[in-house]
Amino acid sequence: MKWLPQAEAEIKKAPFFVRKKARRRVEEHVADEDRKVVTPEDVQAVKKRFLTRMDEEVKGFQVEACFGSQGCPNRVIENDGLVQSIEALLSVEDLRGFLKQTVNGPLKFHHEFRVTLADCPNACSQPQIKDIGIIGAATPEITDVPCSECGACADVCREEAVTLDASPDGPVFDWNLCVRCGQCIGVCPTGTIACGNSGYRLLIGGKLGRHPRLATELQGFYDRDQVLRVLKWCVRYYKGHSIGGERFAEVVEKAGPSFFNHVKTEALKEEDSL
Ligand code: SF4
Ligand code: SF4
Ligand code: SF4
Repeated sequence: MKWLPQAEAEIKKAPFFVRKKARRRVEEHVADEDRKVVTPEDVQAVKKRFLTRMDEEVKGFQVEACFGSQGCPNRVIENDGLVQSIEALLSVEDLRGFLKQTVNGPLKFHHEFRVTLADCPNACSQPQIKDIGIIGAATPEITDVPCSECGACADVCREEAVTLDASPDGPVFDWNLCVRCGQCIGVCPTGTIACGNSGYRLLIGGKLGRHPRLATELQGFYDRDQVLRVLKWCVRYYKGHSIGGERFAEVVEKAGPSFFNHVKTEALKEEDSL
């Protein structure tokens, strides 16, 4: 989709927190009319629709991803259609229908359930402030290949989680400092460091607004199927416990600290197919 410079200038006037969504809606609007060039008139038409008919525009959930798939060199995992699977799962849950029943008054975008995916722990898509944040991660492990002591792994690690002189067998990792960014794996020229495990970290219950809450990490490392199970369980819990438009973060707060153990035991024991 090509954007005329005047259209680019027009979309930049939208507040930063809705700009990405507005941009997507403008492109959908242009594609619906079988065109491939976005004009400033398209931006204005969608803006008017947003302001006058927001209730109709609210679909009940938002799914975002970082720019990893567009060639970011820090990407630690290829998410393999995970965004599309999440969208399909949330569509089935009819969150718009749920919000229509529970919210007093017209729906606004801030009522929507938000999920975001970051392809590495740099977390550019802000998983800390979303209902569910998913972070791609990779754990390094030492192989039998001798270390050349080049020092590249220690140099690249921004967490100072790699020590080279602690063992004759090669680097030693401090797992309390390591954020599983996988950078040391990529720079090791000998193959002494390999990827031991790759998957996702999960953050639960973040939000901004009047009473912000940073999401809590569900300790552990999860595969794609487990991520979808946890998401499905959390959405159902939210629908069962949110009153009058309460955000998931507020539902999590009400449930107390035991909520996170509950998520693990309940969500991951499910055996039904997704
Ligand atoms: S989160 Fe990581 S992979 Fe995604 S855009 Fe940011 S740096 Fe790149
Ligand atoms: S995975 Fe990242 S944080 Fe962990 S040791 Fe390697 S470079 Fe450091
Ligand atoms: S990058 Fe590989 S070869 Fe170089 S010091 Fe680290 S483990 Fe050894």
